[in-house]
Amino acid sequence: MTPAGATAGAARLAELIRERAPVVALTGAGISVPSGIPDFRSPQTGLWANVDPMEVAHVDAFRLDPERFWAFYGQRFATLRGKRPNGAHDALVQLERRGLLAGVVTQNIDGLHAAAGTRELIEVHGSVATSSCLDCGSRYELDVVRGRLESAADGVPRCDCGDPLKPGVVLFGEFLPEHALARAQALAAAAGLLLCIGSSLEVHPVAQLPEITLRAGGAVAIVTRSATPYDADAELKLTGDVEAELQAVVAALGA
Ligand code: ZN
Repeated sequence: MTPAGATAGAARLAELIRERAPVVALTGAGISVPSGIPDFRSPQTGLWANVDPMEVAHVDAFRLDPERFWAFYGQRFATLRGKRPNGAHDALVQLERRGLLAGVVTQNIDGLHAAAGTRELIEVHGSVATSSCLDCGSRYELDVVRGRLESAADGVPRCDCGDPLKPGVVLFGEFLPEHALARAQALAAAAGLLLCIGSSLEVHPVAQLPEITLRAGGAVAIVTRSATPYDADAELKLTGDVEAELQAVVAALGA
């Protein structure tokens, strides 16, 4: 018996996890879709349909025109409001608690892995959990930033010093946090199994991580509907519903 939406491959993935632990999970937008968060790169609708995020969510746009930047970025904050982790996030927490999972590397900025309770978490693109002032370095929690965003006449949340706040997310035109990147690479190299979930594995830096695992003698498994550059190298690929597949894996591993 497998839960609706899961494939028989979930049992095989559970075996692989047992054989090859410690597992490292690498997650992308697809793991948050069941939480109601649309893939940032999916076709947009509405006001910003014809806007290039590479232009408007660029660090230069933030510096030169914070009003326009926050008019766009405020919508992303709104999209994330009230969103909760789903069964796929929870499954990874279960694997970590059982000592099978060494860490989660995510491209997502939604903070849902942290909310679910993942302990060893590397957010390579940062997170909306905090925003900070580039001038004085003060840092503010999401709730505070939301409050300032909503009450600002020009729609720009500001530091106590008056400067615009920048979300703790890696913007286009910004360098990735070196420390996070180094940790992600070290985890990938040490992984017996790199479990890639909901990512097309095309965006830097996560695109390089499966290669690192494979070269170090580890295996790769993929739980993603779309094609990825590593499909041919993967020990296993599951294309069912991400939440159902991962819940089925946890069930197959037993209590
Ligand atoms: Zn400041």
